[in-house]
Amino acid sequence: MSSQNTGYSESSTIIAETTPRGRGGISVLRISGKDAFNIVSTLLDRDIPKPNRIRHAKLCNNIELEAVIDDVMVAVFKSPHSYTGEDVVEISTHGSPIVINKALEAFYKNGARPAGPGEFTLRAFLNERIDLLQAEAVADLIAARSSEAANQAVKQLEGGVSKFANELSDRIMQLLSSCELELDFVEEGITLLNNEEKSTLIDHIINNLKQMIAGYSKARNLRKGVSVALIGAPNVGKSSLFNILADDNIAIVHDAPGTTRDVLEANCIIKGVHFTLYDTAGLRETPDEVEDEGVNRAIRKAENADVIISITSPDVTEHSNIKIENNNRTIYVSNKSDLVKKIISENSISVSALNGTGMHSLRNELYNMVVDNESIKEGTISRERHFMAVQSALTSMEYCKKDFAEGQSEEIIAEQLNAAISAMDELTGKKRSDGLLDEIFSEFCIGK
Ligand code: GDP
Repeated sequence: MSSQNTGYSESSTIIAETTPRGRGGISVLRISGKDAFNIVSTLLDRDIPKPNRIRHAKLCNNIELEAVIDDVMVAVFKSPHSYTGEDVVEISTHGSPIVINKALEAFYKNGARPAGPGEFTLRAFLNERIDLLQAEAVADLIAARSSEAANQAVKQLEGGVSKFANELSDRIMQLLSSCELELDFVEEGITLLNNEEKSTLIDHIINNLKQMIAGYSKARNLRKGVSVALIGAPNVGKSSLFNILADDNIAIVHDAPGTTRDVLEANCIIKGVHFTLYDTAGLRETPDEVEDEGVNRAIRKAENADVIISITSPDVTEHSNIKIENNNRTIYVSNKSDLVKKIISENSISVSALNGTGMHSLRNELYNMVVDNESIKEGTISRERHFMAVQSALTSMEYCKKDFAEGQSEEIIAEQLNAAISAMDELTGKKRSDGLLDEIFSEFCIGK
């Protein structure tokens, strides 16, 4: 097993509840490791089933089978044909925390140890059942809060991004082969490229690396969801718009200015994209300490939001000088369109929280601002880690193109190509830096 440079030992047999804790029809315990079959066998009133079969059995508290814990279904997966690549048994019990605790206790006493967060998926990665992009996709799929986020994660889990990245690595390797000792490779039957072919291949690799990062910020937004802060002077209708967008009556709407002080949070899904909305205190200079704290919180929230909806209304002329530093995007909205006869809205979306006019345009604008389906293509990456790796490969390839055009030596070009391959290996996890696995798998919960 390839646990070099991870400091991780997978000699133990691990167990955890893989379904969420609670009461339900069934709960599933997963046990993985070289002793999984033995340990399970000793606690059942009958033999474990053959691999890829399930069997009804009684799960007992000890090897003397003194007391029955539950009537269970037992499914067996033989290494390497299992999620982790090890011997795995999945036991479906009745969904009760009491049953699960008793069962876990019995397994701990008989040689299994509790699995850590993401440890099943970590083993799947170490046993090369999946690569790092796919392991991350498991976390993304479980965490997905919208159908589009789930679609994106599933594509990555199925290996779409990995395949794209691996094909590019192969092409870079092909270039490298052509740059290194010709004779060796001729002997190995690798066709060497002429200069024109090399130049075409360099351009092809660069274009494809660019394609991987072109839709990155949108893919990231889909994966993580998008935070939206509603800001504006008191009484412009922030809480009213917040309630309509959230389709719920969460925030108090009142004509007394300064009603909202704490930051309120609600969720909404627009065409499959998850948005977290924040209603904030109206921005104004105020002697009231509590309201002033609310204004400070509003500013902080807006500064960190992915999108700001900046609201004005024709009946509120009070404007504060409070400036918000947010390099992200702002949608300007002019509310209370029902109060004006003629709508003049060049740079803003005209809406009325009172009668719902313009809400469709506002939702469209929010969606279009973060999702442009055109730019999420095959190979598009969705995490900062991926972005750094692909960007680094791209930089090396651009140097390579320049060196090649200038007629630099093969050694210099090979150095750039090696750097590009190394960056691609970091992306897929063939090469992993210290702490990277800890960082990725700590995102998981126990049982995943
Ligand atoms: P906030 O202080 O910015 O959160 O504003 P609120 O949502 O509490 O609204 C302030 C006042 O404006 C309330 O009396 C609302 O009923 C009123 N209001 C909000 N939206 C509209 C609108 O579109 N048209 C009209 N006529 N009144 C509105």
